[in-house]
Amino acid sequence: MVDNQIIARGVANSATIRAMRKVPRHLFVPQSLSELAYEDRPLSIGYGQTISQPFIVAYMTAEAYPSEGMKALEIGTGSGYQAAVLAEIVDTVYTIEIVHDLAVESGARLKKLGYDNVVTKDGDGYNGWKEHAPFDIIIVTAAADHIPQPLIDQLAEGGRLLMPVGNRNEVQYLILLEKRRGMVKQTQLYPVRFVPLTRDKN
Ligand code: SAH
Repeated sequence: MVDNQIIARGVANSATIRAMRKVPRHLFVPQSLSELAYEDRPLSIGYGQTISQPFIVAYMTAEAYPSEGMKALEIGTGSGYQAAVLAEIVDTVYTIEIVHDLAVESGARLKKLGYDNVVTKDGDGYNGWKEHAPFDIIIVTAAADHIPQPLIDQLAEGGRLLMPVGNRNEVQYLILLEKRRGMVKQTQLYPVRFVPLTRDKN
């Protein structure tokens, strides 16, 4: 998977490659799909949600420039796979999942696999996680037509935020937002297809 799908497509960040080799992806998908875990595709994880294609996880991780000592926030824990990949590299990963049952499942999975540096939360991630801000890295794994302002506010100076942005049913692009000297710069990176960012009603 790593050689053919990730390195061959140009992902070169060594910490990312090491993490992708290490995290057992087959333990993050439903047992009935575990034979497909290392294929070049997203997979259903129930509740209408998906675990992203391995290349996309690697690409987003690499573009976040992760390193030891950093603090990351993920919105959309899903299976917990992206959180685990980040947790192999950075000090602490905070991750929020809006579907209660998925949050419980992935929290238990990460714990069982020994990812003690991942802190999970059940809820709407639109407003980020202020108590633990600022974050060096913010990765949003669900798409919306804009980047939530609270997430931009909670990004550290020099930090990198990655999120798929686009209207429903239209092409989404992975956007990189960088914060430097208080200024934000956005770069359009790659066309992608993610499930929508949903909102809690209350
Ligand atoms: N990162 C995941 C893939 C997630 S799919 C993995 O590695 O498996 C996107 C996830 O975002 C879904 O589980 C969905 O329920 C969740 N989600 C959607 N809107 C959200 C919101 N507002 N806050 C938190 N999670 C959200």
